Amino acid sequence: MKIDAYVVEEINATLVRETLTIDDPGPGEVLVKVVATGVCHTDLNTQSGDMPLPLPGVLGHEGSGVVEAVGAGVTEVKPGDHVIMGWPYCGTCRNCVRGEHRYCLNIGAELLAGVRLHGPDAGSSAYTRTDGTALSGHFFGQSSFATYSLTRANAVVKVDKDIDLVLLGPLACGITTGAGAVFNTAQPGPNESVVIIGAGAVGLAAVMAACNTPAATIIAMDLQDSRLELARELGATHTVNTREKNIVEAVAEICGGPADYVLDCTGSIKVIEQAADTVGLMGTLILVGGAPAEARFSLDHMRTLFGKTVVGTLGGSSNSRTLIPGLIKLYRQGRFPFDKLITTYSFDELELAIHDVHEGGTIKAVLRIDETNQ
Ligand SMILES: [Zn+2]
Ligand SMILES: [Zn+2]
Repeated sequence: MKIDAYVVEEINATLVRETLTIDDPGPGEVLVKVVATGVCHTDLNTQSGDMPLPLPGVLGHEGSGVVEAVGAGVTEVKPGDHVIMGWPYCGTCRNCVRGEHRYCLNIGAELLAGVRLHGPDAGSSAYTRTDGTALSGHFFGQSSFATYSLTRANAVVKVDKDIDLVLLGPLACGITTGAGAVFNTAQPGPNESVVIIGAGAVGLAAVMAACNTPAATIIAMDLQDSRLELARELGATHTVNTREKNIVEAVAEICGGPADYVLDCTGSIKVIEQAADTVGLMGTLILVGGAPAEARFSLDHMRTLFGKTVVGTLGGSSNSRTLIPGLIKLYRQGRFPFDKLITTYSFDELELAIHDVHEGGTIKAVLRIDETNQ
């Protein structure tokens, strides 16, 4: 069938709307009519060549929508079901069998191969241009900057029809990344402190998650006062503008010493090295934000020796069907108001959305793709 999709032709090229053809769903696949999709930094990192998706290709990986058709053997969902498209995974490797789909041993290819990896059509892309040439799709198993997505049944998360689908896409990646870093990796206990550096969508999701733990001190840090204001509104007990204050000194002042957990949501090596110095004996530094490919950081050996943990987390760890329904329940109870992070744009406003995320006040941009479903 014909779809309308944003295509990025080559590294650093603008995303341009184009009519493409998408295959019908094969065994184990689900065709989703995309209602909305979030814009994540990983889309932009891929456009700029930092993530090795073969180009030209279709990006987008925070999609929500309505099941249009299912392939052979699909029992999880049926046409008409409302779904979020979560991260893909192979389902058979050691980590997938353990339920740790984010750490699927084949995750690189699952996210970025640009072609199907499973079923009778493995190795081919389901996406074709009007001149008959194929291009990359299946980005994060969905390529959701498009009116339709072809995804795998094991990656979709069915959601209740009474929740606004427009809001839900970011639960596929950015929002779960921040929340999962707190729930699955930090797991703070009573009277402990959590420092979140970088108050974008991921960091603010971490702030909201921390408010659902026994942590007593929740410190949000950022360069922008407007984001710090929102962090306070969402439950941060303290905020620090790092343009005005040194990270290590600010934590020492507020906590009376080092912090128990520090989450770096910036991916800045300079910030990560300072963050490591704010964590004390038995403390944990959690790397959440992505740094440029090949980036390295250094640590003070002696201070790390003293029981310090440095751990990375991808997509919040765990898996979509555990994390996403859990966050939706908290949202319904008013305990995880992630809708406050979202600004919506129409399908033709992708460039504006990207601009506003970089330079405006937008924290999480969501494209409304199918206006008839809203
Ligand atoms: Zn796997
Ligand atoms: Zn993402």
